[in-house]
Amino acid sequence: MKEDCIFCKIANGLIPARKLYEDDDFCVILDLGPATKGHALILPKEHYRDICELEETVAAKVLPLAGKIGKAMKKGLGCHGFNLVQNNGEAAGQTVLHFHMHVIPRYENGPRIVAWEPGTVSEKEAEKIVEAVRAEL
Ligand code: AMP
Ligand code: ZN
Repeated sequence: MKEDCIFCKIANGLIPARKLYEDDDFCVILDLGPATKGHALILPKEHYRDICELEETVAAKVLPLAGKIGKAMKKGLGCHGFNLVQNNGEAAGQTVLHFHMHVIPRYENGPRIVAWEPGTVSEKEAEKIVEAVRAEL
């Protein structure tokens, strides 16, 4: 646990939050500033800054849990779909530097979120991008 981390404190029960689910590895809470009704956050109990630090054994449990929560939201809240959003780094909009996965219920005619305007990329640029990333894998 990291002393000054609010999500460490919440996930380990030191600060109260609205809990949807808990097991040995995770705590799932309602987001305080929900994008839509039911917006939840999956928090590992251990501190990892972002997905690059996340242990693979913990990472392997995140998607099954997100699916379980989303499925329960569809049944319990009547949402029609849900988005999984996971920000890594301040440039990507991460404001709390403890890994978390957003599970955001979506309703028909609800607000448009998690969207971008499609851009363009030249053949040459795409080739360079592929080379640059592949070299680091
Ligand atoms: P991110 O921008 O991906 O780092 O998301 C951080 C999220 O945490 C935001 O959606 C906040 O509304 C939410 N948040 C921050 N503090 C709390 C808290 N104490 N309890 C619940 N949600 C929180
Ligand atoms: Zn933490």
